[in-house]
Amino acid sequence: MNPTLQSWLAEQLQTLKDQHLYKQPRILETPAGGSVVMNGKRVVNMSSNNYLGLANHPKVREAAVRAVEEWGVGAGAVRWIGGTMTVHDQLEQKICELKNVDAALVFTSGFTANSGCIPAVLTSDDVVISDELNHASIIDGVRLSSAEYRKSEGWVYEHKNMNHLEEILKRAARFKKRMIITDGVFSMDGDIAPLPDIVALAEKYDAFVMVDDAHASGVLGKCGAGTTSHFNLYGRVDIQLGTLSKALGVVGGYIAGSKPLKEWLINRGRPYLFSTALPPCTAAALIAAIEIMMTDPEPMRKLWDNAKWWKQELKNSGFDTMGSETPITPVFVGDEAKSQQMEAMLWEEGVYALSITYPTVPRGKARIRTMPSAAHTLGDLEAALAAFKKVGSHLALA
Ligand SMILES: *Cc1c(COP(=O)(O)O)cnc(C)c1O
Repeated sequence: MNPTLQSWLAEQLQTLKDQHLYKQPRILETPAGGSVVMNGKRVVNMSSNNYLGLANHPKVREAAVRAVEEWGVGAGAVRWIGGTMTVHDQLEQKICELKNVDAALVFTSGFTANSGCIPAVLTSDDVVISDELNHASIIDGVRLSSAEYRKSEGWVYEHKNMNHLEEILKRAARFKKRMIITDGVFSMDGDIAPLPDIVALAEKYDAFVMVDDAHASGVLGKCGAGTTSHFNLYGRVDIQLGTLSKALGVVGGYIAGSKPLKEWLINRGRPYLFSTALPPCTAAALIAAIEIMMTDPEPMRKLWDNAKWWKQELKNSGFDTMGSETPITPVFVGDEAKSQQMEAMLWEEGVYALSITYPTVPRGKARIRTMPSAAHTLGDLEAALAAFKKVGSHLALA
Protein backbone atom coordinates (compact mmCIF):
# COMPACT_ATOMS: atom_id res chain seq x y z
CA MET A 1 0.00 0.00 0.00
CA ASN A 2 1.29 3.43 -0.94
CA PRO A 3 1.29 5.68 2.16
CA THR A 4 0.82 8.86 0.13
CA LEU A 5 -2.38 7.56 -1.47
CA GLN A 6 -3.70 6.00 1.75
CA SER A 7 -3.22 9.13 3.86
CA TRP A 8 -4.73 11.27 1.09
CA LEU A 9 -7.82 9.03 1.05
CA ALA A 10 -8.17 9.23 4.84
CA GLU A 11 -7.97 13.04 4.76
CA GLN A 12 -10.50 13.33 1.94
CA LEU A 13 -12.97 11.06 3.70
CA GLN A 14 -12.65 13.03 6.93
CA THR A 15 -13.34 16.25 5.01
CA LEU A 16 -16.53 14.75 3.57
CA LYS A 17 -17.65 13.69 7.04
CA ASP A 18 -16.91 17.15 8.47
CA GLN A 19 -18.99 18.74 5.69
CA HIS A 20 -21.93 16.34 6.17
CA LEU A 21 -21.45 15.04 2.62
CA TYR A 22 -20.27 11.52 3.44
CA LYS A 23 -22.37 8.71 1.96
CA GLN A 24 -22.73 5.15 3.15
CA PRO A 25 -25.27 2.79 1.57
CA ARG A 26 -27.71 0.94 3.79
CA ILE A 27 -28.25 -2.76 3.19
CA LEU A 28 -31.58 -3.73 1.62
CA GLU A 29 -32.55 -7.18 2.87
CA THR A 30 -35.84 -7.60 0.98
CA PRO A 31 -36.85 -7.02 -2.66
CA ALA A 32 -37.39 -3.42 -3.75
CA GLY A 33 -40.87 -2.34 -2.66
CA GLY A 34 -42.83 0.26 -0.72
CA SER A 35 -42.12 -1.35 2.65
CA VAL A 36 -38.73 -3.01 3.02
CA VAL A 37 -36.23 -4.31 5.58
CA MET A 38 -33.03 -2.27 5.64
CA ASN A 39 -30.16 -2.71 8.08
CA GLY A 40 -32.44 -5.09 9.99
CA LYS A 41 -35.26 -2.57 10.34
CA ARG A 42 -38.70 -2.46 8.65
CA VAL A 43 -39.08 0.94 6.96
CA VAL A 44 -41.17 2.68 4.31
CA ASN A 45 -38.80 3.18 1.39
CA MET A 46 -39.26 6.66 -0.07
CA SER A 47 -35.97 6.62 -2.02
CA SER A 48 -36.44 4.05 -4.77
CA ASN A 49 -36.88 4.78 -8.49
CA ASN A 50 -39.02 1.65 -8.85
CA TYR A 51 -41.88 3.91 -10.00
CA LEU A 52 -44.22 1.25 -11.37
CA GLY A 53 -43.38 -1.52 -8.92
CA LEU A 54 -41.98 -3.61 -11.79
CA ALA A 55 -38.69 -4.54 -10.05
CA ASN A 56 -40.46 -7.38 -8.30
CA HIS A 57 -43.48 -7.93 -10.58
CA PRO A 58 -44.41 -11.65 -10.93
CA LYS A 59 -44.52 -11.53 -14.76
CA VAL A 60 -41.13 -9.82 -14.96
CA ARG A 61 -39.58 -12.29 -12.50
CA GLU A 62 -41.02 -15.21 -14.45
CA ALA A 63 -39.65 -13.89 -17.77
CA ALA A 64 -36.19 -13.56 -16.23
CA VAL A 65 -36.26 -17.07 -14.77
CA ARG A 66 -37.41 -18.59 -18.07
CA ALA A 67 -34.65 -16.75 -19.92
CA VAL A 68 -32.01 -18.04 -17.50
CA GLU A 69 -33.18 -21.55 -18.27
CA GLU A 70 -33.15 -20.94 -22.02
CA TRP A 71 -30.08 -18.71 -22.41
CA GLY A 72 -27.96 -19.03 -19.28
CA VAL A 73 -26.74 -16.02 -17.38
CA GLY A 74 -24.34 -14.09 -19.58
CA ALA A 75 -24.13 -12.71 -23.11
CA GLY A 76 -20.51 -13.81 -23.33
CA ALA A 77 -19.09 -10.82 -25.16
CA VAL A 78 -19.63 -7.31 -26.40
CA ARG A 79 -22.53 -7.35 -28.82
CA TRP A 80 -20.81 -6.79 -32.15
CA ILE A 81 -18.22 -9.49 -31.44
CA GLY A 82 -20.59 -12.25 -30.45
CA GLY A 83 -23.03 -11.14 -27.83
CA THR A 84 -26.17 -10.00 -29.65
CA MET A 85 -28.83 -12.58 -28.92
CA THR A 86 -32.33 -12.65 -30.33
CA VAL A 87 -33.61 -11.31 -26.97
CA HIS A 88 -31.46 -8.18 -27.40
CA ASP A 89 -32.97 -7.54 -30.83
CA GLN A 90 -36.46 -8.22 -29.52
CA LEU A 91 -35.91 -5.77 -26.68
CA GLU A 92 -34.88 -3.04 -29.13
CA GLN A 93 -37.94 -3.82 -31.25
CA LYS A 94 -40.17 -3.42 -28.17
CA ILE A 95 -38.54 -0.10 -27.31
CA CYS A 96 -39.26 1.13 -30.86
CA GLU A 97 -42.94 0.19 -30.42
CA LEU A 98 -43.15 1.92 -27.04
CA LYS A 99 -41.35 5.07 -28.20
CA ASN A 100 -42.78 5.21 -31.72
CA VAL A 101 -39.29 5.58 -33.25
CA ASP A 102 -37.47 3.91 -36.15
CA ALA A 103 -34.54 2.57 -34.16
CA ALA A 104 -33.24 1.99 -30.65
CA LEU A 105 -29.90 0.80 -29.32
CA VAL A 106 -29.58 -0.66 -25.83
CA PHE A 107 -26.61 0.01 -23.54
CA THR A 108 -25.88 -1.58 -20.16
CA SER A 109 -27.07 1.53 -18.31
CA GLY A 110 -28.48 4.98 -18.84
CA PHE A 111 -25.14 6.33 -17.68
CA THR A 112 -23.24 4.53 -20.44
CA ALA A 113 -25.90 5.44 -23.02
CA ASN A 114 -25.03 9.08 -22.28
CA SER A 115 -21.27 8.56 -22.24
CA GLY A 116 -21.55 6.50 -25.43
CA CYS A 117 -23.87 8.66 -27.46
CA ILE A 118 -22.83 12.23 -26.69
CA PRO A 119 -19.14 12.03 -27.74
CA ALA A 120 -20.07 9.87 -30.75
CA VAL A 121 -22.30 12.49 -32.36
CA LEU A 122 -20.04 15.50 -31.77
CA THR A 123 -16.69 16.73 -33.09
CA SER A 124 -14.43 19.69 -32.29
CA ASP A 125 -16.42 21.74 -34.84
CA ASP A 126 -19.55 21.47 -32.66
CA VAL A 127 -21.03 22.99 -29.50
CA VAL A 128 -23.18 21.53 -26.71
CA ILE A 129 -25.70 23.82 -25.06
CA SER A 130 -26.73 22.36 -21.72
CA ASP A 131 -29.22 23.11 -18.92
CA GLU A 132 -27.32 23.88 -15.71
CA LEU A 133 -29.21 21.19 -13.75
CA ASN A 134 -28.50 18.32 -16.15
CA HIS A 135 -27.62 14.92 -14.69
CA ALA A 136 -24.01 13.94 -13.93
CA SER A 137 -24.00 11.31 -16.70
CA ILE A 138 -24.83 14.01 -19.26
CA ILE A 139 -22.06 16.19 -17.89
CA ASP A 140 -19.57 13.31 -18.07
CA GLY A 141 -20.68 12.40 -21.60
CA VAL A 142 -20.25 16.00 -22.69
CA ARG A 143 -16.79 16.16 -21.10
CA LEU A 144 -15.76 13.09 -23.11
CA SER A 145 -16.65 14.84 -26.35
CA SER A 146 -14.32 17.15 -28.23
CA ALA A 147 -17.06 19.74 -28.70
CA GLU A 148 -17.15 23.16 -27.03
CA TYR A 149 -19.26 22.97 -23.85
CA ARG A 150 -17.79 24.96 -20.98
CA LYS A 151 -19.92 27.01 -18.62
CA SER A 152 -17.07 29.53 -18.33
CA GLU A 153 -17.32 30.06 -22.11
CA GLY A 154 -21.06 30.63 -21.82
CA TRP A 155 -22.51 27.39 -23.20
CA VAL A 156 -24.57 26.38 -20.15
CA TYR A 157 -28.01 27.97 -19.80
CA GLU A 158 -29.81 28.86 -16.59
CA HIS A 159 -32.27 26.18 -15.57
CA LYS A 160 -35.17 26.14 -18.07
CA ASN A 161 -34.46 29.78 -19.04
CA MET A 162 -35.51 29.99 -22.70
CA ASN A 163 -34.36 33.59 -23.17
CA HIS A 164 -30.91 32.56 -22.05
CA LEU A 165 -30.99 29.51 -24.35
CA GLU A 166 -31.92 31.70 -27.31
CA GLU A 167 -29.20 34.20 -26.50
CA ILE A 168 -26.66 31.34 -26.51
CA LEU A 169 -28.02 29.90 -29.78
CA LYS A 170 -27.54 33.31 -31.41
CA ARG A 171 -23.87 33.21 -30.38
CA ALA A 172 -23.43 29.64 -31.66
CA ALA A 173 -23.84 30.19 -35.41
CA ARG A 174 -20.16 29.62 -36.17
CA PHE A 175 -20.25 25.96 -35.12
CA LYS A 176 -20.96 23.13 -37.58
CA LYS A 177 -23.53 21.40 -35.33
CA ARG A 178 -25.37 22.71 -32.28
CA MET A 179 -26.72 20.20 -29.75
CA ILE A 180 -29.15 21.27 -27.02
CA ILE A 181 -29.22 18.71 -24.23
CA THR A 182 -31.62 18.51 -21.30
CA ASP A 183 -33.06 16.17 -18.72
CA GLY A 184 -36.72 15.51 -19.63
CA VAL A 185 -37.62 15.38 -15.93
CA PHE A 186 -34.97 16.88 -13.66
CA SER A 187 -33.81 14.15 -11.36
CA MET A 188 -33.35 16.08 -8.11
CA ASP A 189 -36.12 18.68 -8.50
CA GLY A 190 -38.85 16.75 -10.30
CA ASP A 191 -39.75 19.54 -12.72
CA ILE A 192 -40.27 19.00 -16.46
CA ALA A 193 -38.13 20.56 -19.20
CA PRO A 194 -40.04 23.01 -21.46
CA LEU A 195 -39.43 20.69 -24.40
CA PRO A 196 -41.85 22.34 -26.89
CA ASP A 197 -40.00 25.67 -26.46
CA ILE A 198 -36.60 23.98 -26.65
CA VAL A 199 -37.57 22.17 -29.86
CA ALA A 200 -38.96 25.36 -31.41
CA LEU A 201 -35.72 27.22 -30.65
CA ALA A 202 -33.68 24.33 -31.99
CA GLU A 203 -35.64 24.42 -35.24
CA LYS A 204 -35.23 28.19 -35.51
CA TYR A 205 -31.45 28.07 -35.03
CA ASP A 206 -30.61 24.81 -36.83
CA ALA A 207 -29.78 22.90 -33.67
CA PHE A 208 -30.74 19.36 -32.67
CA VAL A 209 -32.13 18.19 -29.35
CA MET A 210 -31.11 15.33 -27.09
CA VAL A 211 -33.44 14.64 -24.17
CA ASP A 212 -32.53 12.38 -21.26
CA ASP A 213 -35.80 10.78 -20.19
CA ALA A 214 -34.42 8.65 -17.35
CA HIS A 215 -37.11 9.94 -14.96
CA ALA A 216 -39.79 10.39 -17.62
CA SER A 217 -39.64 6.78 -18.82
CA GLY A 218 -42.66 4.97 -17.40
CA VAL A 219 -43.88 8.21 -15.82
CA LEU A 220 -44.91 10.64 -18.59
CA GLY A 221 -46.44 10.20 -22.05
CA LYS A 222 -48.48 7.44 -23.68
CA CYS A 223 -47.84 4.21 -21.73
CA GLY A 224 -44.89 6.00 -20.11
CA ALA A 225 -43.16 6.69 -23.43
CA GLY A 226 -41.54 9.88 -22.09
CA THR A 227 -41.52 13.62 -22.67
CA THR A 228 -41.53 13.49 -26.48
CA SER A 229 -44.84 11.64 -26.27
CA HIS A 230 -46.11 13.79 -23.35
CA PHE A 231 -45.66 16.95 -25.45
CA ASN A 232 -46.57 15.26 -28.76
CA LEU A 233 -43.23 16.12 -30.36
CA TYR A 234 -42.89 12.92 -32.37
CA GLY A 235 -40.26 13.22 -35.09
CA ARG A 236 -38.88 16.52 -33.76
CA VAL A 237 -36.42 15.25 -31.11
CA ASP A 238 -33.38 13.68 -32.77
CA ILE A 239 -32.01 11.78 -29.77
CA GLN A 240 -34.02 10.35 -26.88
CA LEU A 241 -32.28 8.60 -24.02
CA GLY A 242 -34.20 6.32 -21.72
CA THR A 243 -33.24 4.18 -18.77
CA LEU A 244 -34.40 0.65 -18.15
CA SER A 245 -33.22 0.87 -14.55
CA LYS A 246 -35.85 3.09 -12.97
CA ALA A 247 -39.55 2.72 -13.82
CA LEU A 248 -38.80 -0.42 -15.83
CA GLY A 249 -37.40 -1.96 -12.69
CA VAL A 250 -34.40 -3.80 -14.15
CA VAL A 251 -31.20 -2.26 -15.54
CA GLY A 252 -29.96 -0.79 -18.80
CA GLY A 253 -30.34 2.28 -20.97
CA TYR A 254 -31.07 3.07 -24.58
CA ILE A 255 -30.84 5.66 -27.29
CA ALA A 256 -33.93 5.99 -29.49
CA GLY A 257 -33.99 7.86 -32.78
CA SER A 258 -33.32 7.29 -36.47
CA LYS A 259 -31.78 4.24 -38.16
CA PRO A 260 -28.60 6.12 -39.18
CA LEU A 261 -28.17 7.25 -35.55
CA LYS A 262 -28.33 3.64 -34.40
CA GLU A 263 -25.89 2.49 -37.12
CA TRP A 264 -23.48 5.25 -36.14
CA LEU A 265 -23.61 4.31 -32.44
CA ILE A 266 -23.05 0.65 -33.28
CA ASN A 267 -19.86 1.80 -35.00
CA ARG A 268 -18.78 4.65 -32.73
CA GLY A 269 -20.52 4.29 -29.33
CA ARG A 270 -17.62 3.20 -27.15
CA PRO A 271 -19.55 1.51 -24.28
CA TYR A 272 -21.42 -0.48 -26.96
CA LEU A 273 -18.16 -1.41 -28.67
CA PHE A 274 -16.11 -2.23 -25.58
CA SER A 275 -18.48 -3.39 -22.82
CA THR A 276 -20.28 -6.72 -22.58
CA ALA A 277 -23.97 -6.91 -23.51
CA LEU A 278 -26.79 -7.06 -20.95
CA PRO A 279 -27.44 -10.58 -19.65
CA PRO A 280 -30.18 -12.29 -21.71
CA CYS A 281 -32.41 -12.69 -18.64
CA THR A 282 -32.23 -8.91 -18.15
CA ALA A 283 -33.31 -8.34 -21.75
CA ALA A 284 -36.16 -10.85 -21.35
CA ALA A 285 -37.29 -9.24 -18.08
CA LEU A 286 -37.30 -5.86 -19.80
CA ILE A 287 -39.42 -7.13 -22.70
CA ALA A 288 -41.97 -8.35 -20.12
CA ALA A 289 -41.80 -5.02 -18.25
CA ILE A 290 -42.44 -3.00 -21.43
CA GLU A 291 -45.33 -5.32 -22.34
CA ILE A 292 -46.91 -4.59 -18.95
CA MET A 293 -46.45 -0.84 -19.49
CA MET A 294 -48.06 -1.05 -22.93
CA THR A 295 -51.06 -3.16 -21.91
CA ASP A 296 -51.82 -2.44 -18.25
CA PRO A 297 -52.61 1.20 -17.33
CA GLU A 298 -52.98 0.33 -13.64
CA PRO A 299 -49.34 0.76 -12.43
CA MET A 300 -49.03 4.22 -14.01
CA ARG A 301 -52.43 5.29 -12.67
CA LYS A 302 -51.46 4.15 -9.18
CA LEU A 303 -48.09 5.91 -9.44
CA TRP A 304 -49.78 9.22 -10.24
CA ASP A 305 -52.56 8.79 -7.66
CA ASN A 306 -49.95 8.16 -4.98
CA ALA A 307 -47.72 10.98 -6.20
CA LYS A 308 -50.55 13.54 -6.22
CA TRP A 309 -51.72 12.50 -2.75
CA TRP A 310 -48.21 12.60 -1.31
CA LYS A 311 -47.29 15.97 -2.80
CA GLN A 312 -50.56 17.58 -1.73
CA GLU A 313 -50.33 16.26 1.84
CA LEU A 314 -46.75 17.50 2.19
CA LYS A 315 -47.76 20.94 0.91
CA ASN A 316 -50.78 21.02 3.22
CA SER A 317 -48.41 20.29 6.09
CA GLY A 318 -46.31 23.32 5.16
CA PHE A 319 -43.31 21.67 3.48
CA ASP A 320 -41.60 23.26 0.47
CA THR A 321 -41.68 20.70 -2.37
CA MET A 322 -39.82 23.08 -4.69
CA GLY A 323 -40.95 23.15 -8.35
CA SER A 324 -41.78 19.46 -8.62
CA GLU A 325 -44.40 18.42 -11.19
CA THR A 326 -43.71 14.68 -11.20
CA PRO A 327 -43.51 11.89 -8.61
CA ILE A 328 -39.98 13.02 -7.63
CA THR A 329 -40.83 15.13 -4.57
CA PRO A 330 -38.02 17.06 -2.91
CA VAL A 331 -38.60 18.43 0.57
CA PHE A 332 -36.42 21.52 0.81
CA VAL A 333 -34.14 21.85 3.84
CA GLY A 334 -31.22 24.01 2.63
CA ASP A 335 -28.54 23.39 5.23
CA GLU A 336 -26.54 20.14 4.77
CA ALA A 337 -26.22 19.32 8.48
CA LYS A 338 -29.94 19.85 9.07
CA SER A 339 -30.83 17.72 6.06
CA GLN A 340 -28.63 14.91 7.33
CA GLN A 341 -30.25 15.25 10.77
CA MET A 342 -33.70 15.06 9.20
CA GLU A 343 -32.76 11.87 7.35
CA ALA A 344 -31.57 10.32 10.64
CA MET A 345 -34.73 11.37 12.49
CA LEU A 346 -36.99 10.01 9.74
CA TRP A 347 -35.09 6.74 9.93
CA GLU A 348 -35.82 6.55 13.66
CA GLU A 349 -39.50 7.01 12.77
CA GLY A 350 -39.37 4.11 10.27
CA VAL A 351 -38.95 6.06 7.04
CA TYR A 352 -36.04 5.73 4.65
CA ALA A 353 -35.81 9.02 2.75
CA LEU A 354 -32.39 10.15 1.68
CA SER A 355 -30.80 13.52 2.23
CA ILE A 356 -29.45 14.78 -1.10
CA THR A 357 -26.53 17.17 -0.82
CA TYR A 358 -23.64 18.58 -2.82
CA PRO A 359 -22.34 17.54 -5.38
CA THR A 360 -25.68 16.04 -6.45
CA VAL A 361 -27.35 19.42 -5.84
CA PRO A 362 -25.74 22.86 -5.28
CA ARG A 363 -24.33 23.70 -1.82
CA GLY A 364 -26.95 25.20 0.48
CA LYS A 365 -29.77 23.46 -1.41
CA ALA A 366 -29.85 20.22 0.55
CA ARG A 367 -33.14 18.40 0.55
CA ILE A 368 -34.86 15.16 1.48
CA ARG A 369 -35.82 13.58 -1.83
CA THR A 370 -38.94 11.41 -1.76
CA MET A 371 -40.19 9.07 -4.46
CA PRO A 372 -43.78 7.88 -4.09
CA SER A 373 -44.48 4.93 -6.40
CA ALA A 374 -47.03 2.34 -7.45
CA ALA A 375 -45.31 -0.02 -4.99
CA HIS A 376 -46.61 2.02 -2.01
CA THR A 377 -49.91 1.29 -0.30
CA LEU A 378 -51.87 4.22 1.10
CA GLY A 379 -50.90 2.86 4.53
CA ASP A 380 -47.19 3.17 3.66
CA LEU A 381 -47.65 6.77 2.60
CA GLU A 382 -49.78 7.68 5.64
CA ALA A 383 -47.10 6.27 7.94
CA ALA A 384 -44.41 8.21 6.07
CA LEU A 385 -46.45 11.42 6.24
CA ALA A 386 -46.93 11.11 10.01
CA ALA A 387 -43.14 10.77 10.38
CA PHE A 388 -42.49 13.79 8.14
CA LYS A 389 -44.93 15.92 10.14
CA LYS A 390 -43.36 14.95 13.46
CA VAL A 391 -39.78 15.47 12.30
CA GLY A 392 -40.64 18.55 10.27
CA SER A 393 -42.20 20.35 13.23
CA HIS A 394 -39.23 19.40 15.42
CA LEU A 395 -36.87 20.95 12.85
CA ALA A 396 -39.16 23.94 12.24
CA LEU A 397 -39.66 23.03 8.58
CA ALA A 398 -43.40 22.50 8.70
C1 LIG B 1 -30.46 7.83 -13.30
C2 LIG B 1 -30.18 8.70 -14.45
C3 LIG B 1 -29.32 8.29 -15.48
C4 LIG B 1 -28.58 6.99 -15.40
O1 LIG B 1 -29.42 5.90 -15.65
P1 LIG B 1 -28.96 4.45 -15.16
O2 LIG B 1 -29.72 3.53 -16.03
O3 LIG B 1 -29.29 4.35 -13.71
O4 LIG B 1 -27.47 4.36 -15.40
C5 LIG B 1 -29.16 9.11 -16.56
N1 LIG B 1 -29.77 10.31 -16.64
C6 LIG B 1 -30.59 10.75 -15.67
C7 LIG B 1 -31.27 12.07 -15.82
C8 LIG B 1 -30.81 9.97 -14.54
O5 LIG B 1 -31.62 10.41 -13.56
